[in-house]
Amino acid sequence: MRQTPIERIRDIGIIAHIDAGKTTVSERILFYTGISHKIGEVHEGQAVMDWMEQERERGITITSAATTAFWVPTYLGLGAEQVDERKKNEYKINIIDTPGHIDFTVEVQRSLRVLDGAVVVFDGVAGVEPQSETVWRQADKFEVPRVCFINKLDRTGASFEKSLASIYERLTPNAVAVTIPIGHEQDHKGIIDLMRMKAVYFDGEHGEKIRLEDIPENLASYAKEWRTKMVEKIAETDDVLTEKYLEGKEITEPELRPALRRATLSYKLIPVFAGSALKNKAVQLVLDGVVDYLPSPIDLPPVEGFEPGDESKKLLRKADDSEPFSALAFKLQSDPYVGQLTFFRVYSGVLEAGSYVYNTIGDTKERIGRILRIHANSRDEVKDMYAGDIGAIVGLKNTKTGDTLCDPDNPIVLEKIDFPEPMVSVRIEPKTKADQEKMGLALKRLSEEDPTFRVETDQETLDVIISGMGELHLEVLVDRMRREFKVEANTGKPQVAFRETITAKAEAEGKYIKQSGGRGQYGHVRLRVEPLEAAQGFEFVNEIRGGVIPQEYIPAVEKGVKESLSRGVVAGFPIVDIKVALYDGSYHDVDSSEVAFKIAGSMAFQEAARRAKPVLLEPIMKVEVLAPENFLGDVTGDLSSKRATIESMTDRYNLKVVDAKVPLSEMFGYVTNLRSMTQGRGTYTMEFSHYQQVPTNIAKQIQEARGMKKEE
Ligand code: GDP
Repeated sequence: MRQTPIERIRDIGIIAHIDAGKTTVSERILFYTGISHKIGEVHEGQAVMDWMEQERERGITITSAATTAFWVPTYLGLGAEQVDERKKNEYKINIIDTPGHIDFTVEVQRSLRVLDGAVVVFDGVAGVEPQSETVWRQADKFEVPRVCFINKLDRTGASFEKSLASIYERLTPNAVAVTIPIGHEQDHKGIIDLMRMKAVYFDGEHGEKIRLEDIPENLASYAKEWRTKMVEKIAETDDVLTEKYLEGKEITEPELRPALRRATLSYKLIPVFAGSALKNKAVQLVLDGVVDYLPSPIDLPPVEGFEPGDESKKLLRKADDSEPFSALAFKLQSDPYVGQLTFFRVYSGVLEAGSYVYNTIGDTKERIGRILRIHANSRDEVKDMYAGDIGAIVGLKNTKTGDTLCDPDNPIVLEKIDFPEPMVSVRIEPKTKADQEKMGLALKRLSEEDPTFRVETDQETLDVIISGMGELHLEVLVDRMRREFKVEANTGKPQVAFRETITAKAEAEGKYIKQSGGRGQYGHVRLRVEPLEAAQGFEFVNEIRGGVIPQEYIPAVEKGVKESLSRGVVAGFPIVDIKVALYDGSYHDVDSSEVAFKIAGSMAFQEAARRAKPVLLEPIMKVEVLAPENFLGDVTGDLSSKRATIESMTDRYNLKVVDAKVPLSEMFGYVTNLRSMTQGRGTYTMEFSHYQQVPTNIAKQIQEARGMKKEE
C-alpha cells in the first residue's frame, strides 16, 4: 500500500561546485531527517547518533545513488508526543546523488533527468564559482526548479549579500532571499526567517533544537528591508497579490508560501537560503524549502516516451499509480552487501517484487527480485514502489543505465539519454597476473555502470584501452578499480579520441569474387560517399534499381560499411559525418552470399573514403580560466602555445576571465600547469565545444605515431 501520498514526495538533487559543502549539507540533511523520523520512538537520540557514526566511517550513504529521507516542516512545530500527527504530515524526500566534477557532467545530466528539483549549494565566501555556472545552465536546460543555499557564512570573508549579488549577476535575476543570516564569520549566530519574521537559532550539540525568537532589535529594520524586497518579488508574480500590494495591504505568510511555490515551479523565482552546514545552522530551513517550493511528481507534466522501435509514436505516462508501470534505470552501483544495485525512478504505475517487467532498450524481460529503499541508517526491503518513488532493485541481469523498465503489456521507451562519445583514452595494464584476471571483470562492471566509459582491446597490440570523458574521469575509474575491486594497474599517457571524416565526394568499386571450382564467392558493389554536416553521424542510402543487387544482400553491404567505419583510413580512428550511397553492382545466382557482399561493401567503402580527401578531427574545448590580473600574461601566453583561440578577456570581481577554445589534446595536465603558473590562484573549467580538423603537420605526427603514414 502506498504510504506517502504522491503530492508529499520530493525527488531532489543537491548540486554544487566541488568544496562548496555538498557532502556536509547532505550529511546534515540525513541527520536531521533521521532524528525527525525517529522522534517518539524508543531509542530516540542514541540510535540516531550510532548510525551517524557508523555511516561516517563507511561513507556509504553519502555516495549512494539515491537516499530516502522523511521530513516534517519545522513550522508545523509538532512535538515528540504527536507521533501520529507527525506521520500524517511527513514528506518523503528522495535525494539523488549528483557528481561534482566537470568531467562528470554526463552523470550530472543523468541525475538531472530523474530529479524534479534541486538545492544548489554555494560557498558564502566564493559566491558563484565557474563550475556552478555550468551546472546551473544544465539545470536550466532540463528545466529543474531549484532553491539556493548560501553556505559557509561562518567563514572568514563570507558575505551573504555579495554571494547573492553574484547569483544575480552570473546566474539569474530571479533569486529572492527568504532567509538572511544573523551575523557573519564568528558572529554567525542564527537566521532570520523572512516568512515568519522570526529569528531562528539552532541549539543542541548538532543544532537539532530549533528555537524561535523575536528578531533582535538592532536587526529589525534590516530584516524589514529584506522582507519588503521578498514580498515585492513574490507579489509581482501573482495578480491578486500585486493588487493587494499596490493597495498597501499586508500580505501574510499563508499567502506568500503558496505564491512563492507557484513562482518557483514556473521558474519565475528562486528562493535563497542562508546558513552554515558545518556549524549546524539552518539546514532544516532548507529542508522546509524543499517541501514548500520544490515540485512533487504531480506538479510536473506527464513523462514523455515513445513506442519501442518507433520514435515518432509518442506516448505519455502520468505520475499516477493507476497508469501502466514505467521506470527509468538511472544508475548501477555495486554494493558491498548485496552486490549489484540498479537504481530506478518509477514514473507511473506500481512495481511489485516478484513480478516481471519488460526492458524496452535491452528487449528482455526481467524478474524483479528484491526492491530496496536506501535510508541513511538502513536498507529496507519493500514489496512495492509507486509512481514518483526512487529505489534500487537487487540482481537485475540485463539492465543498463538509461534503460526503461515497463509493464510488458504497455511497452514504452522513456526518452533515452544521449550519452556523448568518450573523448580521452589510455592504455591500461594489470600489475600482476592475479590482477589481470580480475581486471576484465572490474572493467566490465564499471562500463556497465557508466555509459560514457568504454573498454576495448587494441586488435594489433592486444593492449586494453579504456576511454572516458576526460583525464580525471579515467583516473577516478582506475582508482575505483583499485579500491572496490582490488585491482592494481598501470596506465599510459592519456590520448585524445580523434575522429575522421571526409571532405569531398568520391566513388569506388568493391569486388569480392572467387570462382575456382566448387561454390565460389561473388560480391560486387559500387558506392558513393559524401560528407555530412557536423554531428550528423552516418547515413546509408540504397539507390539500387531493377534488382542489380538483390534486396537480401543490401543489409550485408551496409554491415560491411559500418564495420569499416570504426577503423578509419587516415589513422584508424572512427569515421563520422558521412553519407554512403549504394548505387550499383552485380551478383551471381549461385556464388553470391551475404558474406561476399559484406566484404565487397567494406572494400568499396575503404577505397571511396581514401579518395574523398579524408581528414582527422579533434575535440575542441571551451575553456574558461580565472586568474588574478598579474598572472594574465602568463596564462594567455601559455594558452597561445597550446593552439588556443582566445575569444575574450573580461573582469569578474577582482579576477580576470579568459575565454578560449583549446584542443583537448593540449589540455592534459592543465590543472597542475595552471596551479604552478598562478601560485595556486588560477582555476578553470572546460566543456566540449566541437570537433575540428587537425592541422596537417600535427595530423602527420599522429599518423606516424600510429604507424599509418599516408601513402602519397
Ligand atoms: P563538497 O566537496 O561540496 O562535498 O564539500 P564538503 O562538504 O566536503 O566541504 C568542503 C569543505 O568545506 C570541508 O572541509 C567542510 O568541512 C567545509 N565546510 C562545509 N560546510 C561548511 C560551512 O558551513 N562552514 C565552514 N567553515 N566550512 C564548511
